[in-house]
Amino acid sequence: MGRWAIAVHGGAGVDPNLPLHRQEEAKQLLTHCLNLGISALRSNASAIDVVELVVRELETDPLFNSGRGSALTEKGTVEMEASIMDGTKRRCGAVSGLTTVKNPISLARLVMDKSPHSYLAFSGAEDFAKQQGVEVVENEYFITPDNVGMLKLAKEANTILFDYRIPNETCGAGVESPLKMNGLPLSVYAPETVGCVVVDSEGRCAAATSTGGLMNKMTGRIGDSPLIGAGTYACEVCGVSCTGEGEAIIRGTLAREVAAVIEYKVLGLQEAVDFVIKTRLDEGMAGLIAVSNKGEVACGFNCNGMFRGTATEDGFMEVAIWE
Ligand code: ASP
Repeated sequence: MGRWAIAVHGGAGVDPNLPLHRQEEAKQLLTHCLNLGISALRSNASAIDVVELVVRELETDPLFNSGRGSALTEKGTVEMEASIMDGTKRRCGAVSGLTTVKNPISLARLVMDKSPHSYLAFSGAEDFAKQQGVEVVENEYFITPDNVGMLKLAKEANTILFDYRIPNETCGAGVESPLKMNGLPLSVYAPETVGCVVVDSEGRCAAATSTGGLMNKMTGRIGDSPLIGAGTYACEVCGVSCTGEGEAIIRGTLAREVAAVIEYKVLGLQEAVDFVIKTRLDEGMAGLIAVSNKGEVACGFNCNGMFRGTATEDGFMEVAIWE
């Protein structure tokens, strides 16, 4: 029997002025989700079931940018996307442009398990959801007052909100900063994508990522999160979930690169993660979490912070935001 390991993230790039109580809320949710995954792993759940379970929980809570609490499009609507991959046979499922599906990650799982395809989007994905009988709700359910406020700020500044670009030196718990980004005050909470990676005690790796995308994105925009190889990847050797500037993650095929570097350069997991973050992002800002089939866990990011939690079978557990 191998050793299990799990990592979760709630997105890369953190507002340095994020009030302490919101940092605490985020850490509590990450801890809760890690514990959920840990008890499932202790009951011998498979890696693929655990990543779905954990991401569903993150989607249901409005704190991060997925499911309820998703970032809004320029039209004030929600278009969610998600993907899931089972490393054992490299099976995968992905969805984009969802407006009513309560848990996009579970629809991605159904695309993998119950459709002849790997990726369904927009009306076809919604039709498939109805056919499969998954829970659907009105688009309004996903829209939170926080995000309506953020969209207003983004529109006033005529920008898409990227908080990945906040310089490192301004971060830290409770740091006061008059910093503005593209003219936007940064004392607002920018919601972030969620993900989970797991290796179970049989050495099976899986990865899942779910998001509303970027605040004030164009309708129809598809980011890295539903793209297998970019935002999500799992194979025999590792599972990876990314977050950050989607367009940069897509160009760098970031998640697949971690696996490629392990396979072809024979690097260890953390070395592979560091190498990829350093060499594959160009000017982009992003982060990722990863597990290996040996029960290792790793994370890396080149922006000021990443909401994340990691745990391994030997009792190690950590939840962190900053470097
Ligand atoms: N990568 C996501 C996207 O570009 C955003 C995020 O990770 O926060 O849609």
